[in-house]
Amino acid sequence: MSSCIFCNIIQGKAPAEIVYQDELVTAFHDNHPVAPVHLLIVPNKHIPSLNEWEASDEPTAGRLLSVAKCLAEQFHLRQSGYRLITNTGADSGQAVFHLHVHLIGGRRMRFLG
Ligand code: 5GP
Ligand code: ZN
Repeated sequence: MSSCIFCNIIQGKAPAEIVYQDELVTAFHDNHPVAPVHLLIVPNKHIPSLNEWEASDEPTAGRLLSVAKCLAEQFHLRQSGYRLITNTGADSGQAVFHLHVHLIGGRRMRFLG
């Protein structure tokens, strides 16, 4: 989807600090980090939000979690801990409508509210 910033990052048409890419997912640094480590892990396929997720996307869900685990280790978060967040829709504050998982760590966090 040419108007989608994350599609453009995945395709190399927009700049981003990409830390991982395979045939299903791409991971890159958030450009407004809220913690010392703040990565976004996204499906390469344009899926606006979890609301549009389909059963056929299940292999991608597994990959997203596997990559999150690997990146948490790579960024030395395994011991200290980290958080995965996927915002969906207006009340959650979702701003970019290409499904993504935030991987956040490197500081102590409070419960969300
Ligand atoms: P959301 O609120 O949709 O869950 O989070 C969207 C995230 O994408 C935000 O944390 C925001 O900083 C990040 N973001 C928005 N535009 C860009 C961009 O062009 N490049 C990068 N690297 N991150 C972006
Ligand atoms: Zn997209």
